[in-house]
Amino acid sequence: MLLLLRGARAASADIQPRWPQAPVQAGAYPAGSPPSPPCPRAEGGGRASGGGRPSPRPRRHRRRSPCLGTARPRAQQQQEKAKAKRAVRWKCASGCGACCKLDKGPDFPTPDEIFADHPDYLQLYRSMTGDDGWCINYDKATRTCNIYQDRSLFCRVEPKAFDEFFGVPRSRFDREACSACLDNIKMVYGDDSAELSNFKRVIRDESKKLELEASKNQDKLLDT
Ligand code: SF4
Ligand code: SF4
Repeated sequence: MLLLLRGARAASADIQPRWPQAPVQAGAYPAGSPPSPPCPRAEGGGRASGGGRPSPRPRRHRRRSPCLGTARPRAQQQQEKAKAKRAVRWKCASGCGACCKLDKGPDFPTPDEIFADHPDYLQLYRSMTGDDGWCINYDKATRTCNIYQDRSLFCRVEPKAFDEFFGVPRSRFDREACSACLDNIKMVYGDDSAELSNFKRVIRDESKKLELEASKNQDKLLDT
């Protein structure tokens, strides 16, 4: 069964300040006014004028000047938004089988938590879990399921199952399934495993196909 990792990914912890944070002395800025990024033109800036004559008026920064630090972060933000919107399509990578390890350890929710409203599934899940933590229907030699056609709903990586057990809407299914696969593969095979590289390659290829299909559909729409 493909379980989602316990808890959400802490994205905020990964967000770094855009500029090095220098210590700010008390009273250096008016209350509520954050420090600006360091500006190379702030002191004695501007083009040197002939004979050391001071410029009659200080040069004004144009809006969106890189000096103000707006252009680069904004471009970065747009890139990040575009990346976040990029289409992702989930696909199972053959020869993996990581999700068939049913005893997944403390980072994942327990079967009791997942099947709190489904006692029949809980019983089935427990009965399928072997002493080594793997599903008793899993063939380790071939990395395949011996009862594939008849496997339970909780074994199926499908929108219906994700909605039923995790409350994941259809619109988020592909992303959540990919994320769950990554977590399961890392847990079983490790962060540097060939299985993880293979899964990422499969998803990249699949997602490229999806983008291509979307662009063809867009062309068709525009040509009509
Ligand atoms: S790719 Fe995902 S769904 Fe397929 S076997 Fe691996 S963990 Fe399970
Ligand atoms: S029944 Fe099949 S798909 Fe489900 S966990 Fe066992 S081996 Fe994997």
